[in-house]
Amino acid sequence: MEQRVKELNRKYKEIFSDGNKVRNFQAPGRVNLIGEHTDYNGGFVMPMAINRNVLSAAAPRGDNEVHIHSVNFDKTIQFKLNNIEYRKEDGWGNYIKGMAKVLMDKGYKICGMNILFEGDIPLASGLSSSAAIEVLSGKTFAMISGVEIPAEELALLAQKAENEFIGVNCGIMDQYIISTGKKNNALFLDCRDLSSEQVPFIFDDVYVVIGNTKKERGLVDSEYNSRRKECEHGVKEFNKILGGVKDLRDVTSRQFEESKDKLPEITRKRCQHVIYEDERVKKAVKYLKSKDLESFGNLMVESHESLRDLYEVSCRELDILVEEALKMDGVFGSRMTGAGFGGCNVSLVLKDHVEKFIVLITEAYKKKTSRKPEFYICTPEDGAKEIVL
Ligand code: ADP
Ligand code: MG
Repeated sequence: MEQRVKELNRKYKEIFSDGNKVRNFQAPGRVNLIGEHTDYNGGFVMPMAINRNVLSAAAPRGDNEVHIHSVNFDKTIQFKLNNIEYRKEDGWGNYIKGMAKVLMDKGYKICGMNILFEGDIPLASGLSSSAAIEVLSGKTFAMISGVEIPAEELALLAQKAENEFIGVNCGIMDQYIISTGKKNNALFLDCRDLSSEQVPFIFDDVYVVIGNTKKERGLVDSEYNSRRKECEHGVKEFNKILGGVKDLRDVTSRQFEESKDKLPEITRKRCQHVIYEDERVKKAVKYLKSKDLESFGNLMVESHESLRDLYEVSCRELDILVEEALKMDGVFGSRMTGAGFGGCNVSLVLKDHVEKFIVLITEAYKKKTSRKPEFYICTPEDGAKEIVL
């Protein structure tokens, strides 16, 4: 990390040559251990922030302009704080413009600045590099401008930027964990009232291993929107049957079993996933607290099967990564993570077995799909923060 920050600061001087002393910030990617497609249903999730992140180097300019450069895109973009508009050709720059806008709309006074970004979160792979760059730019704007924004509020503002400025109808999970994560903990989050609990995730002999299918997530946007609609339909149906249902989170598995025959098939399957997934997250918290990774891993497998068969958001590549993982020694559990249709899976693997795990799955996956997967060995890390070398 230290080396990366030094290199970033060297590049800052080269690109902006303003002679200013910079400050550095970071925001991590995230992986969701369990609780998939529950966030926008007012339910429960258990993500953790990971040891892959986006870094920034920034200093004030003395005017009302923001100049941003991303090492990953090798491009500089400029905008004035009193004239922020979405422009398609600005691509990644829109995330940063969106953050500046929501901060100012909320009444925060932001000053002009130069910011350099560099990240090692794989882009568009489901580890939420977009939420990382949103939260990071929010943190950078606030700190350089000398304003304090609580982590929970920063998460909500980042979600607002993604919803309203970028136009992606995401839930709160990604921005929340990226903003509030704590080293050595997973986060148990209630996505309805945003109450949360840090749950220690400290296992000397276990890694969280993320496998990237390297498959483009082509269908994800349209399918995501149709799943949201199907869940809304489920809420309407359950309201007729039970009354008082605001989100699928309000229906227990018992109530579901008693009334499922009244639902059309697709609605029934979607609801079954969400309702049982919420219950799995609550069980997962209990197992994590009692350090019972066997049982935790079994829940991960159930979650995957439910996402594959009931919610129908997996794909062949994800199923192969999970199937192969479950054949390996030293694996507690494995499941797809993120929205689906590509992206990543997540497995809990004994450290001693990780090397073999990666080699064997890479072989098998390549044979079956003609794609080369990537693996990231992950640890639970802090959310967005300043880095002082
Ligand atoms: P995901 O959030 O799953 O990684 P998205 O498509 O939602 O995928 O977000 C990826 C986008 O986020 C990138 O195309 C880019 O616009 C922006 N982004 C992520 N990391 C960086 C970075 N280091 N520099 C600039 N933009 C970034
Ligand atoms: Mg994203």
